Amino acid sequence: DMLGADQQGLVISRFGQHAIIEDSDGETLQCDIRRTVTSLVCGDEVVWREISASSAKRTGVIEAVLPRRSALTRPDYYDGVKTVASNIDQIFVVSSILPEYSNQILDRYIIAAENMSITPVIVLNKVDLADESALAPIRQQLDYYHSLGYPIIELSCKTGVGIAQLHDQLNENTNIFVGQSGVGKSSLVNQLLPDADEIVGDVSDNSGLGQHTTTASKMLSLPSGGRLIDSPGVREFGLWHMNQEQVVNGFIEFLPLLSQCKFRDCKHKNDPGCAIRAAVESGEIAQFRFDNYHKIVLSMEENRSNRTFVR
Ligand code: GDP
Ligand code: ZN
Repeated sequence: DMLGADQQGLVISRFGQHAIIEDSDGETLQCDIRRTVTSLVCGDEVVWREISASSAKRTGVIEAVLPRRSALTRPDYYDGVKTVASNIDQIFVVSSILPEYSNQILDRYIIAAENMSITPVIVLNKVDLADESALAPIRQQLDYYHSLGYPIIELSCKTGVGIAQLHDQLNENTNIFVGQSGVGKSSLVNQLLPDADEIVGDVSDNSGLGQHTTTASKMLSLPSGGRLIDSPGVREFGLWHMNQEQVVNGFIEFLPLLSQCKFRDCKHKNDPGCAIRAAVESGEIAQFRFDNYHKIVLSMEENRSNRTFVR
């Protein structure tokens, strides 16, 4: 009899002072959250106790949160930074042929992922909308990302191209899909789990719990054995809270060269003895990555003085 004993569980979703958890047998139940637990999000591994084993309504109480392996954060007007979900292994950065593929948007997501120590997986959706000649220049850039170690998936939700590779990559991991509106995130989730949008919709609509639930995240189980954390808030996640110093962490091919720049405060522009610039000139680092680095740093400089928070 486990009544009252400490057990481990996984948070599937959280609503105010309640959470749905999955126990170690894969059964779900609703729990109250102890007031001493100050932060609890979808993806958290927790210690909980059963308080009612009634077959009609099994309930428990969450006592503590285990240390997080990673956290997806976003800025919050009141709290500074707010954690949206935790223990994510992979961020699938979805881009498409229409809306147009943008290496700068991709780099912004990579910066965010690298700074949270979560592996980015690059997905190019709607390849059915482009012929070989239109795909060629995009593929050239994706090959460069691949050479940096990032997995690349060319996909079509329409024709099913790449869906098998997607399943392989999702594997046993905990994953999220991010990307601009219209790139096909809902279509993707629907491909994997035909009922998922209904579930995510339930979380965000008409629950009577108001503001709290509009960004509530939900953990979905994938046929592969992996998991997908999804919510409108997760899908729209972006580069809101990064600072200039963190930008370089998204340019992983720059990192081993930084110590070779002549000046410690090198801006990697026209500074004499810049190792990054030399690597661009020798073709070792792609010009578009160098350009994006400077564009993104500059845009953050401009935003610094009148920073706006997205809630
Ligand atoms: P989201 O905003 O990222 O969730 O994008 P949606 O999943 O709503 O997709 C936006 C539009 O793109 C919809 O009209 C989809 O039918 C369409 N779409 C999604 N995937 C594909 C694809 O692989 N090929 C084509 N041609 N259209 C797609
Ligand atoms: Zn430099």
